[in-house]
Amino acid sequence: MIRQIITYPDKRLFMRSNEVEHFDQELHRLLDDMYETMRAKNGIGLAAIQVAVPLRALIINLPDEEGNQHKEDLLEIINPKIVQSKGSIVYTEGCLSVPEYYEDVERSEWVRVEYQDRYGNPKSLEAEGLLAVALQHEMDHLDGHLFIEKLPYLKRKKFEKEWKKKARVKVKR
Ligand SMILES: [Zn+2]
Repeated sequence: MIRQIITYPDKRLFMRSNEVEHFDQELHRLLDDMYETMRAKNGIGLAAIQVAVPLRALIINLPDEEGNQHKEDLLEIINPKIVQSKGSIVYTEGCLSVPEYYEDVERSEWVRVEYQDRYGNPKSLEAEGLLAVALQHEMDHLDGHLFIEKLPYLKRKKFEKEWKKKARVKVKR
């Protein structure tokens, strides 16, 4: 089932999400719905809070070199922790909760993450480049942070101004 994605400035996006304790049907349904929702919106990652569920769960599905996403590549990541990181990378990020806005953000170039899968099994992975960026972006959501918070002051001000203008146009329609 495709769920509704909440968008900035919805207050729930600034909540800290709770640890997942029950690796049950309800969690599996949530993860399945998140996948359908992400694909419907052409996203490459989604955190549970973006569909208004404050749990530490996220999914990432990076496209291959031709730009196609395969479900075999889907990562389902529960209760993640970054245990090691290095380097830095600047990548132009976007977010389904901040639609149609893209801006450069600096993050770690390489990370090692420990997490659980949908059954609660402990897992770990090492990621670099876009996958490392996506992991850090989605994990920020779990702590109630959006990528726009990382923008330099003037860019952030410009964003707020443009966002308000866009919101007004929407109301007029
Ligand atoms: Zn996002």
